[in-house]
Amino acid sequence: MHLTDLTITQAHQGLINKKFSAIELARAYLDKIKKSDKDIFAYLTITEKLALKQAKEIDDLISKGKRLPLLAGIPVAIKDNIMTEDIKCTAGSKILDNYIAPYDATVIKRLRGQGCIILGKTNLDEFAMGSSCENSAFGPTKNPCDLTRVPGGSSGGSAAAVASDECVFALGSDTGGSIRLPASFCGVVGLKPTYGAVSRYGLIAFASSLDQIGPLAKSVEDCKIVFDAIKGKDEMDSTSVKLNTDLGRSGLLKETRPPKNLRIGVPKEYFIKGMDSEVEKVIKNAIKKYEEMGAKIKEISLPHTEYALAVYYIISTAEASANLARYDGIKYGKSKANNKQQAKNNLLDTYLQTRGEGFGKEVRRRIMLGTYTLSAGYYDAYYLRAQKVRTLIKQDFDNAFKQVDPVRKKSSNGVDVILSSVSPFPAFKIGEKTKDPLTMYLSDIFNVSVNLAGLPALSLPCGKIGKLPIGLQIIGKPFEEDKILEVGRAFEENV
Ligand code: GLN
Repeated sequence: MHLTDLTITQAHQGLINKKFSAIELARAYLDKIKKSDKDIFAYLTITEKLALKQAKEIDDLISKGKRLPLLAGIPVAIKDNIMTEDIKCTAGSKILDNYIAPYDATVIKRLRGQGCIILGKTNLDEFAMGSSCENSAFGPTKNPCDLTRVPGGSSGGSAAAVASDECVFALGSDTGGSIRLPASFCGVVGLKPTYGAVSRYGLIAFASSLDQIGPLAKSVEDCKIVFDAIKGKDEMDSTSVKLNTDLGRSGLLKETRPPKNLRIGVPKEYFIKGMDSEVEKVIKNAIKKYEEMGAKIKEISLPHTEYALAVYYIISTAEASANLARYDGIKYGKSKANNKQQAKNNLLDTYLQTRGEGFGKEVRRRIMLGTYTLSAGYYDAYYLRAQKVRTLIKQDFDNAFKQVDPVRKKSSNGVDVILSSVSPFPAFKIGEKTKDPLTMYLSDIFNVSVNLAGLPALSLPCGKIGKLPIGLQIIGKPFEEDKILEVGRAFEENV
């Protein structure tokens, strides 16, 4: 087995048993990046010096006989919208192409605390707006399974880095599918945590009520290890939640069978006209495997699914238009003004020119959409109504999970997890959907409801069409990450 094939636990074993050093491990990945990233373009920045310095520190600890956490010495790639102190952080945008992060995001602090080795920053759709990684101002990432196809977005660089063995695991962010879709297209495992499970401090905001950071990795167990390391309350993010960490047995998943008496819901609205029939077959087959493993399968209904994309594109663009107001050529990043005096004399021109040239087409489209739906005359008709439908979408899931009996008001008969496809189709050709934003938006039709409802969901490779991987989505109740990981692991182990 090669050093760049290892999972977290395998690499950890190798390090503590001195089969190889942390420096050798980091070198192996840096060499792999040099060799294959010319074609894939997963990385925007490679932090070789930092990685080797961190690896040396871990080797020193090993030689002193210190006990190491599971993540010590493990090389990681970070999506370039997560701030990493003293390293460039572009969010895939020209407007930030000279921006150096002044502090570490909380997730980075936590990974550093465990001794992770930071290899670099990965490509993404500009400000995480996209489904294919083609909206990056620095050029598209390619899918390692087929270089003529997209890796999915927006965390396409992170998924491609994991899939091409250019890191052991990566961090991504998911606002409306951006961890799950690229995980599915590239054949890796991705976890979108419950809203509030992971701190957003230091994540460049796209839509604050939807954004969550999560892992992309080679196995379900690796996702669990990373999630345990980054989750939990953070003073710097008031929406983060104190989790009962004792309940979430840190470290490894012990069970390899699906939980006893597992009840799986399959929403009929997630098998739609227009879905690729091969994808449908692969997903139905995966669901059958669960049945064979002893799970009870039940058809359920999430009746407001048909509004999910519309609601998502109203709420996310509204929030984006507010979040992106800070890039004005004065406070952050690039400016069209050459100096302060010039900016002061021509403040409006500075704003308009900086934003006009700094933002790409998709970002400008979303700022306009968001500004429109928040404007005085349209707020009630669009934004307010979308928020109401968002509640209905969340109630659909509540009903599926606990199905309150309307007469006795007692919950009964709910399902434990919900299964669906991550995407209606496999990875598409580069350029295939760039001309038509609406068909591009359809890529996340099965993903956005999960963000609107704040739920956790796993994307798990469950089959292939030719060489193109297909992802199974496992959706859970709030804060039941361990349950969906266990359910995912059962498939990984037995199928
Ligand atoms: N594809 C969706 C969008 O373009 C989701 C993006 C994301 O999750 N960051 O908004």
